[in-house]
Amino acid sequence: CGIVGYIGKRDVAPLLLEGLQRLEYRGYDSAGIAVTSPKTAGLKSVKAKGRVRDLEAKVPARFKGTTGIAHTRWATHGAPSDANAHPHLDAEGKVAVVHNGIIDNASDLRRKLEADGVVFLSETDTEVLVHLVARSQAPTLEEKVRETLRVIEGTYGIAVLHADFPDRIVVARNGSPVVLGIGEKEMFVASDIAALVTHTRQIVTLDDGEMATLKADDFRTYTTEGTRTTSEPTTVEWEA
Ligand code: GLU
Repeated sequence: CGIVGYIGKRDVAPLLLEGLQRLEYRGYDSAGIAVTSPKTAGLKSVKAKGRVRDLEAKVPARFKGTTGIAHTRWATHGAPSDANAHPHLDAEGKVAVVHNGIIDNASDLRRKLEADGVVFLSETDTEVLVHLVARSQAPTLEEKVRETLRVIEGTYGIAVLHADFPDRIVVARNGSPVVLGIGEKEMFVASDIAALVTHTRQIVTLDDGEMATLKADDFRTYTTEGTRTTSEPTTVEWEA
């Protein structure tokens, strides 16, 4: 349902929780957050059925990071629960994905992955994305995501974190909105500009079939085939 992400220098958890609160009006049944930083090894994540404030209550005091993704879920595949809340992580805790939309061939892909020994931790359609990215042999995160998008069918707005590539967030859009917020040495991503406008008015709206890489001081957009696309930020007017 709702996505928020941030990469920069600030303490990321409070920022993301505030962003999730700005998306509350859209409705949701659970929420979650995953964070990392160039200095810490690995990802940390917390998920909770219920309100954003239920999630906030579960976030430990030492939940530090400068990069993160967060989600409010409106369940389509799998009941509302802590386990089915996003972000979804692989067994090693290296890859985290938040997803809006529906993966149509998820049960097929899941069967194949399970036959290959992958243990699923949720009932969601989304989780196949995590395992596909985690198992990809492609050298870059962008290529791992691209390879994954090639085998899935359905709609998505996604944001992906990978512990081996802590300097970036990779996002993609097909049928579910993704907007980038361009800041000063910090970047935002969300499914709705309502989650961004308190931080920046410089917005780039992704088209269907487009991906982006966000780094703290830089971003680039390209098609799912890898061809660069132009993306001049536009300034949005917004009544606070
Ligand atoms: N289909 C996914 C799920 O059920 C995402 C739902 C959403 O857009 O919030 O977990």
